[in-house]
Amino acid sequence: MTTRVVSFADGGEEMKELLGGKGAGLAGMTKAGFPVPPGFTITTDACREYYAEDRVLSGELWKDTNNEIAALEASTKKTFGGVENPLLVSVRSGAAVSMPGMMDTILNLGLNDATVEGLAELTGDPTFAWESYRRFVQMFGEIVFDVPSDRLSQITERAKQDGALDATAYAALVRRLKDVVAGYAKASIPDDPRDQLRLAVGAVFESWGNRRAIDYRRMNDISDDLFTAVTVQSMVFGNSGESSGTGVAFTRNPMTGEPVLYGEFLENAQGEDVVAGLRTPEPIAALEQVMPEVFAQLSEITLRLEAHYRDMQDVEFTVERGNLYMLQTRSGKRTGRAAIRIAVDMVNEELLTKAEGVQSVSPGRVEELLHPVVVRQPDTEIIASGLPASPGGAAGVVVFDPDEAVELAAAGMAVVLVRNETSPDDFHGMVAAEAIVTARGGVTSHAAVVARGMGKCCVVGCAGLRVDYAEQLFHSNGVTISKGEWITVDGNTGEVLAGQVPTVEPELDDYYETLMSWTDEFKTMGIRANADNPTDAAAARRLGAEGIGLCRTEHMFFEAERIEAMREMIMAPNAIARADALAKLEPVQTADFVGMFEVMDGYPVTIRLLDPPLHEFLPRRDETVNHIADLKLRIASAKKLSKIDKLLNEIQEREFVLAQIERLSESNPMLGHRGCRLGITYPEITEMQVRAIFNAAVQCAERGIVVKPEVMIPLVAFSSEFLAQEEIVRTVAEEVFAQAGLSVEYQVGTMIELPRAALTAGEIAGSAEFFSFGTNDLTQSTAGLSRDDASRFLPGYVRRGLIERDPFQSVDIEGVGSLIEIGTERGRAVNPGLKVGVCGEHGGDPRSIDFFHKTGLDYVSCSAYRVPVARLASAHAALASPI
Ligand code: ADP
Ligand code: MG
Ligand code: MG
Repeated sequence: MTTRVVSFADGGEEMKELLGGKGAGLAGMTKAGFPVPPGFTITTDACREYYAEDRVLSGELWKDTNNEIAALEASTKKTFGGVENPLLVSVRSGAAVSMPGMMDTILNLGLNDATVEGLAELTGDPTFAWESYRRFVQMFGEIVFDVPSDRLSQITERAKQDGALDATAYAALVRRLKDVVAGYAKASIPDDPRDQLRLAVGAVFESWGNRRAIDYRRMNDISDDLFTAVTVQSMVFGNSGESSGTGVAFTRNPMTGEPVLYGEFLENAQGEDVVAGLRTPEPIAALEQVMPEVFAQLSEITLRLEAHYRDMQDVEFTVERGNLYMLQTRSGKRTGRAAIRIAVDMVNEELLTKAEGVQSVSPGRVEELLHPVVVRQPDTEIIASGLPASPGGAAGVVVFDPDEAVELAAAGMAVVLVRNETSPDDFHGMVAAEAIVTARGGVTSHAAVVARGMGKCCVVGCAGLRVDYAEQLFHSNGVTISKGEWITVDGNTGEVLAGQVPTVEPELDDYYETLMSWTDEFKTMGIRANADNPTDAAAARRLGAEGIGLCRTEHMFFEAERIEAMREMIMAPNAIARADALAKLEPVQTADFVGMFEVMDGYPVTIRLLDPPLHEFLPRRDETVNHIADLKLRIASAKKLSKIDKLLNEIQEREFVLAQIERLSESNPMLGHRGCRLGITYPEITEMQVRAIFNAAVQCAERGIVVKPEVMIPLVAFSSEFLAQEEIVRTVAEEVFAQAGLSVEYQVGTMIELPRAALTAGEIAGSAEFFSFGTNDLTQSTAGLSRDDASRFLPGYVRRGLIERDPFQSVDIEGVGSLIEIGTERGRAVNPGLKVGVCGEHGGDPRSIDFFHKTGLDYVSCSAYRVPVARLASAHAALASPI
């Protein structure tokens, strides 16, 4: 049987799925005896039913709702639609997973031309009554009838321009707003509160399917099948004069994690005012000044809530004539830095176990600590200062329109979205922007909460900043910045800087180090880094990498002078010429490896032999053709014979290059002459690289450095390929050792990045000492997808739900994952000591890491800056599935 409606008294905090987070929290607080205005929740099951049944409210739902309204009337001794003592309610949305600001809420429902008079009479405050009515009309118009929010708010703002309004002025404003709504919607707001309620519930159900809610779910990996609940709650009024107000509080500082009550309070205001950022509120300490008892009560309640939920809470509260009411509690969004500090503090406070502390920080958040910090220059100009709402630093060109932010970002521009305030309609623009700046609002405004949730740098409440949307510019502190100009946002200080100011990596604090040291107590996989140069390797070491899992040698060749020698080698007409070119490259390679071994003293370094198709090193064909054409033109206009001779020579050279480009061009380079196939055709390339590796190794070993080279043969499809290359490696290694009179331990292994290699892993493992799954190429070769081309259509696949996620970001467990399982199993069956790892993007993806852990891999390797994420993800994986 479907449960469609549950009163607060009958619900509980454990019923999140059915009642949504908000409904469950309110029921929980009601049970705990905290002051909560009474109400009930229409369940997510009712919403699911609504969507299943042509989006109409069922008769059963309506009957149950009416029963609850009657109960509410009885408990509040008010009447829904009654003039004497009208019952007013809020209609609030809330899914099981918090999606702040994504769906809609209507306040003061139950007001009409008659009940507003009753409310005025009852409170003796007609201004307040009409102002409440104004809010209701505005929200109802926007949410139920989809009137663009600007249209109504502009009318209100204009009316308020010349100072505070009295009851008569508000009444006129209400009439005007109702007319505009009716004109837009071709329907008027119903007078009967039950009709209002019916429409409002339908609208909240509908808001589950609106664009921003869907975008948010995609971005946060939230299932579409959760649906939203609707909470109907009797109103309390924070806008009923002095000793009233509304606020938002976090039980700990959501920016830093510091264990103090943090939040904001607005006197004489109704809930939405704080969140919408229309007025910049006071810090919560102001509440202690004006209403010390209320503050004390709030502090006590929040402490109890936190101890109860064992998590930092974010609460909404309202004070009505000195009485405190709790309107919401949920686990508070926080920055990555705060998440880490809160976890460590709560473990020390014995609120959480060490394992729970580690599990409470989701791996992706750690990356935020690695966010860049703005480095001011002597001439850096501050153009605005506001509140630091979300840390980090980022530069971009100014845009004011969220759609434009999306367009420019898609074209590869870094953009900063600047708004007077943001609303949920701006969400897609916030996703696209590097940073967000708002003129108004506090640290709990929509912009702030959403930015923090995304780990995006954000500054809000910049006093003196005004956006002129019509002119596409903003004024601040006497400066004018137009669309397209660069600014830099410092989310750590809350300042907006002129131009493109440089940024650097931040320091990691003790809380971070503590949490990371705890991950080592739980994780069982090793974490290595992909690094091609000593700088990245050093960064990886600092971040806790236990080795290099992939050092790509070809990247070393792309640098300026080297590419020349490399081209010579490729274009060499015969083996002798090739040997000459290789001889030039060898000392450079040796020096590269010395650098790597120095940094990685004591840790393994996996070096992959040359992998990409050779033509990647040659100039582009069209450029060369143009170049030749250009030289020919210059001959035509040249006068001196010597000049002509020189040009002719150059043409000849270019034509030779062109011939090489054509000779090396392949119709399908990804599957062409690359990887170990190069080393098979040109063994001297392998020989040179291996000599460089082992010469570097013995040179370092002589200096007391502990070197652990692991030579990795790429793109093996047949075990015979591996055997042929392995023989070269071992022969050259022995030669070098004999010459140096010194030998070092080393391993020879292979990348498994072709399905055939995974399937015949048993044969390869007969002599390979390690496998490293190259999951990028393995994904390409398993699904027959070229990663570079897939970006044209794969996002569409994800949007349409054909596949759940991009297989290049998170490993395709069913397909590629099966090959990894098979390869590991068959390899280890032959060689039980076989070391198995993963290199490639997936090594830094928490979901993939969980799979690799379950498959029993020895290590993952990812880019240096993902190492902390991988360490934490690997601890999570081990805690979730102990082996
Ligand atoms: P959101 O999920 O966007 O935070 P809410 O449902 O929490 O939306 O409501 C928005 C605002 O309205 C909140 O600030 C809340 O405190 C206020 N509010 C909701 N219900 C009531 C009520 N019954 N009485 C007074 N204020 C309310
Ligand atoms: Mg809320
Ligand atoms: Mg590869």
